[in-house]
Amino acid sequence: MTAIDVGQGDSILLVSPQGKTLLVDTGGLPQWMHSDFDIGEDVVSPYLWSRGIHRLDAVAITHAHSDHMGGMAAVLANFHPRELWLGVESRSPELQKLLEDAKRLSVVVIHRKAGDNIELGGSTVSILAPASNFGGSTLGRNDDSLVMKISFGQTSALLEGDAERREEQLIAREQPQADLLKIAHHGSTTSTIPELLAAVRPRFAVISSGVRNVYGRPRMEVLNRLEQSKVATYRTDLNGAVTFYLDGQGVSALVVH
Ligand SMILES: [Zn+2]
Repeated sequence: MTAIDVGQGDSILLVSPQGKTLLVDTGGLPQWMHSDFDIGEDVVSPYLWSRGIHRLDAVAITHAHSDHMGGMAAVLANFHPRELWLGVESRSPELQKLLEDAKRLSVVVIHRKAGDNIELGGSTVSILAPASNFGGSTLGRNDDSLVMKISFGQTSALLEGDAERREEQLIAREQPQADLLKIAHHGSTTSTIPELLAAVRPRFAVISSGVRNVYGRPRMEVLNRLEQSKVATYRTDLNGAVTFYLDGQGVSALVVH
């Protein structure tokens, strides 16, 4: 699992033991920045190419915010994934445009709900949220995040998108134990609640956040919670891209300087 350095945003690449690929989120700049820089084209795609990846098996959008899906149009065009996974359907115009792109490129759109278990090339992806009875569509909120646990042998990683307190309280009841935790919402204080940490009991964590981001994330309070729980924490703003190997028995981290 690699947390790609997309600045303030998330993009997590998973490569299964048999080489199947799942890209969860693509980073992206908020529209208020009015920038021509395309994180999908200029950061995520070159990284995937550097790994020898030219086709993705699946991509997922955890929730309909720019810092998670802004780079998706370029990724769809460059890597023709077979499947696009969504949690809650959102009326966000930005997402609707991506769904049109997906249709044009014959990408199969699949809505994932808690309880789904997907075999991914020798690993298992278990969906923990949104709940199967999650009602209606929204304009995209953090607490709508698609949350998944990826397991291989005795090792596992929990990816929370931008889940906040309300959603983390639900996740905490769903046996989320994992060795590696992708910290929710870039280390904001409304996530990584003590209840969630106690249920997950991670040994490693990774926070995806931008250098000197305007939101002041990750927050010291969250870093302190992680330190008190003796979690080895890596940060894309300090470490750049961080890769973790989950070999079925243990987890190791690789930081390239
Ligand atoms: Zn975010």
